[in-house]
Amino acid sequence: MTIATELPTEPTPRGETGISQATPADAPITMLNPDFPFSYDHYLAHPDGLAIVPPELFGTEVAVIGAGLSGLVTAYELMKLGLRPVVYEADQIGGRLRTASFPSAPGVVADLGGMRFPVSGKAFYHYVGLLGLDTQEFPNPLAPATSSTVIELAGQKHYAATSAELPEFFHEVATAWKAAVNDGAAFQEMQDAIRARDTKRIKELWDELLPLLDEQTFYGFIAASKSFKEAGFAHREAFGQVGFGTGGWDTDFPNSILEILRVVYTDADDQHRLITGGAQRLPEALWHHAPSGMAHWPEGTSLASLHSGSPRGAVDRIERGENGDLMVRERWGRETGYPAVVTTCQSWLLSTRIHTQESLFPSELWTAIERSHYMQSSKTFVMVDRPFWKDIDPETGREVLSMTLTDRLNRATYLLDDGPDKPAVILLSYTWNDDALKWLSLSAEERVKLMLHSLEQIYPGVDIASHIVGQPITVSWEADPNFMGAFKANLPGHYRYQQRLFTHFKQDKLPESQRGIFLAGDDVSFTAGWAEGAVTTGLNAVWGVVNHLGGSSVAGNPGPGDLLDELGPISLD
Ligand SMILES: Cc1cc2nc3c(=O)[nH]c(=O)nc-3n(C[C@H](O)[C@H](O)[C@H](O)COP(=O)(O)OP(=O)(O)OC[C@H]3O[C@@H](n4cnc5c(N)ncnc54)[C@H](O)[C@@H]3O)c2cc1C
Repeated sequence: MTIATELPTEPTPRGETGISQATPADAPITMLNPDFPFSYDHYLAHPDGLAIVPPELFGTEVAVIGAGLSGLVTAYELMKLGLRPVVYEADQIGGRLRTASFPSAPGVVADLGGMRFPVSGKAFYHYVGLLGLDTQEFPNPLAPATSSTVIELAGQKHYAATSAELPEFFHEVATAWKAAVNDGAAFQEMQDAIRARDTKRIKELWDELLPLLDEQTFYGFIAASKSFKEAGFAHREAFGQVGFGTGGWDTDFPNSILEILRVVYTDADDQHRLITGGAQRLPEALWHHAPSGMAHWPEGTSLASLHSGSPRGAVDRIERGENGDLMVRERWGRETGYPAVVTTCQSWLLSTRIHTQESLFPSELWTAIERSHYMQSSKTFVMVDRPFWKDIDPETGREVLSMTLTDRLNRATYLLDDGPDKPAVILLSYTWNDDALKWLSLSAEERVKLMLHSLEQIYPGVDIASHIVGQPITVSWEADPNFMGAFKANLPGHYRYQQRLFTHFKQDKLPESQRGIFLAGDDVSFTAGWAEGAVTTGLNAVWGVVNHLGGSSVAGNPGPGDLLDELGPISLD
C-alpha cells in the first residue's frame, strides 16, 4: 500500500567504472532496472554532459519520429550536443502524456495517459526539476493525500482513512504477497541491492531468477507461492482486486511475472506525484526550453525555434536511399534523408502505419516488434462543481464519497481537487485490458451512465450526477491509430524479445546496412507503462546516434552503450 511521500533526492556518487559504491541502508530506492542497472540519473547529472560531438558534425540533422516524452528527451539532448534534431509528430506534442481541459473551465484538467509518477523515477524527475514544474502527491488508494478510501468487493464495503483501519483479511493478503515475492523472487535482497546501487548483486540476483521466471505468469507465480496456497483462493482473488500500491492488478495476471517484479523492486508502484497543471506540461516544456551552454547553438535556441514552432507531420515511410541515407517520407509526400533516425512511436506502428523497409532490421528484431504485447486502457473523467465528496455524512461521520476500488465495471475511481469551492474532477473509471474492452464500443455518455450506476450501488443516496458540469472526457488508447494500445506488457516467454528491442541501440554487431536507425520509447524499455522507461530509452538512442555519427562519451561519464556489455540484459539460449 502507498506510504509517506518523499521528494526525489540528489543522486549518490558513482565510482570511476560506473559501478556503484555502497550507500547507506536508508538510501532511496531508484528505478534501477535489474535488467540493466545503469544509473541514468548520475549520467544526466554529470557536469561535463552526456557526450562530445566533433565540430564538423555540428548542425547534422537527425530525424526523431514522435513528439512524446521519449522523442523530446532524445531531441533535446541531441540539440544540446550541437546536432539538429528534426521532430516528426502525427498528432499532439506529448503523446501519451496527454492532458485534456474541460472547455468551460480550462484550468481544470484530466491526464488521459500518464498521470502519477513514482519518485523513484529519477531520470524522469531530472527533467521535471530542470524545467521547474511543480508536483503534488497523487491521491492513490490509502495514500496520505487521500482522506478516505473505500474497497468494495462482492458487495461488501470497507471504509478506511489509513490501511491500518482495514479488516484483518486485507492485512493477510498484503502479508501473503510480501512472503510470495520474498520467497520466490528475493524481494528484500533485491531492494537492498538497489538501494546500495550494488549493480553486481542486482545482476547476480536477477540473472538467476530470469530463466526460472520468464515463462511464469503473474497469476501462476502467486498461485504457486506457499503463502497464497496456504491463504487460499479468497486471498488470491482479493489480491487481484486490491493488489498493491495503485490498486487492483488482476488484469495483469496473464502477463509475465518479470514485468511485475520490475515494478515492485523499484517502488514504481509507490509514492506517486502528479504534475500540477497536467502531465503534458513536461513534454511541452521540453519543446520550448532553451538550455544554456549548448554546443554550437546560440543562447535562446529551443526545439520549438529549430522547428519554426511546429514539428513535421506524420511519417509514412522509412527506407534506405541510394546514397546510404535513411529516407523519411511524410504522409503528405515530403521526403528528407538523414544519417540517423530515432523512432519513438509504439513499435507496432513500424509495420502497420509506417512502411519501414524490412531490410533495415534483423528478422529477429521484427519478430520482437510483432510479438510486443500491449495493454488496453480506458479512462473517463467528469468535472463537478466542487469537491463535494469531502462533505461529511451526518449519520456515519464519514466522507460521502471516497477514492474507490471495486470489482464492479469502474474498477477504480479517483477524486482530484484543487481546493474547496472550485470545480474538481472525478476519474470515474480507470481500467486495463478486459475491463477496458468493456468500455471500448460505448459512447462517453453511455460509459458515464454505467459508471454512475455502479457508484450508486456503493454510495446509495449520493447524487453524483447532480454535481456534474460540462461534457465528460473519455479515452480508449487502443482505438487511437497513433498508439494502437496503452503500453507494452510482456507475456510469458517474451524476455528474449524485450532484450532484442532494448539492446538494439548498440549496433556494433549489426551490418552497415542495418545501422543508423534506433528504437526508443515506452515499449522498448523494460519498464513500460512508466514514463521513466520512455526517458531512459531516449537516452540510449542519444548514445547510439552520437556513436553512429562519430562522437563519443565524455571521459568519466560512461554512457549506457559503454556499459551495456558489462551490465546489460543477459541472453537466454
Ligand atoms: C493510460 C495510460 C496510463 C499511464 N500511466 C502512467 C503513469 O501513471 N505513470 C507513468 O510514469 N507512466 C504512465 N503511462 C506511460 C507513459 O504515458 C508513457 O511511458 C510515455 O508517455 C510514453 O512516451 P513515448 O514518447 O515513449 O511514447 P508516446 O507518448 O506514445 O509518443 C510517441 C509519439 O509518436 C507519435 N506517432 C505515432 N505515429 C507516428 C507517425 N507515423 N509519425 C510521427 N509520429 C507518430 C504519436 O502520436 C506519439 O505522440 C501511462 C500510459 C497510458 C497510455
